[in-house]
Amino acid sequence: SLSDSLDKSFRNLRGVGKISEKNITDALRDIRIALLEADVEFGVAKELIARVKDASMGEEVLKSIKPGEQIVKLFQDELTRVLGGDNVPLDLNPPARILMVGLNGAGKTTTSAKLARRLQKEGRRPLLVACDLYRPAAVDQLVTLAGQVNVPVFAPERGETDVIKVAREAISFGEREGATVLIFDTAGRQEIDEKLIKELIELNKFLQPKETLLVADAATGQQAVSVATHFDEAVGITGIVLTKLDGDARGGAALSMREVTGKPIKYAGEGEKLDQLIEFHPSRMADRILGMGDIVSMVESVADKVNEEDAMRSMKRMQEGKFDFNDFLDQMKMIQNLGPLEGLLGLMPGFNKIKKQLPAGALDTSKLKKTEAIVLSMTPQERARPEIIKASRRQRIAAGSGTSMQQVNQLIKQFAEMRKMMKNPGKMKNMMKAMGGGG
Ligand code: GDP
Ligand code: MG
Repeated sequence: SLSDSLDKSFRNLRGVGKISEKNITDALRDIRIALLEADVEFGVAKELIARVKDASMGEEVLKSIKPGEQIVKLFQDELTRVLGGDNVPLDLNPPARILMVGLNGAGKTTTSAKLARRLQKEGRRPLLVACDLYRPAAVDQLVTLAGQVNVPVFAPERGETDVIKVAREAISFGEREGATVLIFDTAGRQEIDEKLIKELIELNKFLQPKETLLVADAATGQQAVSVATHFDEAVGITGIVLTKLDGDARGGAALSMREVTGKPIKYAGEGEKLDQLIEFHPSRMADRILGMGDIVSMVESVADKVNEEDAMRSMKRMQEGKFDFNDFLDQMKMIQNLGPLEGLLGLMPGFNKIKKQLPAGALDTSKLKKTEAIVLSMTPQERARPEIIKASRRQRIAAGSGTSMQQVNQLIKQFAEMRKMMKNPGKMKNMMKAMGGGG
């Protein structure tokens, strides 16, 4: 049961546990859950886990007294290796041509401008070429972005539909203007369709680009594999750009696409601004996908400052869905030793999603005193069973704590949200497991 595995994790945390094949199996099962939660494609997750399982069976791991930590670390290393493999600089030997491909909304046009800006900063002379002829607005968008980064752009006449013609004209324009690298922005579709792929195949054949970059949203879910395979089979991608890493997505798509195509991840988009295209960091991505690296550091920082037994007891109550306002009060006392609450909670996977649902300033430490006053004005029964706190009780609590009904309502609502998050078995289990190995 969950609580048995929890007890075992605690023993491991104290360093009395001995690693067994079961330890490995348990840790890998939880890693599998973490991968699937990050939207890594099922087959890819399975394959990676099998690989690490073989590696973990080695002697080094068996000697460890902290098996959970050791296995998570091994897995993180493997992910880093897989994600970072084969990454070489873009091939920009003349004629340097970069073809940007991907689904609609993935970020091709934005990334084209970002890339042009980067290359220009490196002392090259880029030319942006608008080959998305399906929407007139697409050409205008590229022209605008090109202006913002101060890079020349080749834009076809309105109504032009022949991409090959546009490409040919752009190449002569580039030659006349002394451009040293051409970046071709293309049309995308919501779903991959035949017409789009046919056009891309023709454009690719005509351009013979040295680089064909698949631009993909980090939030691409299970379809990542089919998208990457489709584009790779059609035009032979040379690399991947992962966009929107500034969002909440854990980014399992990166791993899926990397595994199925074998093509390196070249860059990461971290915002809408045109300077927000960075080198891809495989180890950061591995931490993010696994969602455990941060937890390990949280466990370490908490363990320094908080009584371990107390922390474990309240963790256990969280997991069992029994966490109430009495525990909350205990935790607030601990938090006073810990510094900003948001910083600590921010280390929990999935927390960013929760945060969006909370009222503004809800996590402000300066408000903790008020929160504490509200909880102290509750009776022990109310703290144990928040659901009994109806309107008349709320009025009394507000009066008793010198706050308003609205503030009381807000806290109770917020608490209910927090409880819901804590009861999420997948997230909690990963966290408990990481704690088991992380002390
Ligand atoms: P395209 O259809 O593939 O050409 O996609 P666009 O370049 O038009 O981008 C679609 C939307 O995603 C736009 O609103 C962009 O500003 C936004 N976008 C692109 N890259 C990023 C990124 O790295 N982070 C964020 N937050 N938004 C991005
Ligand atoms: Mg576009």
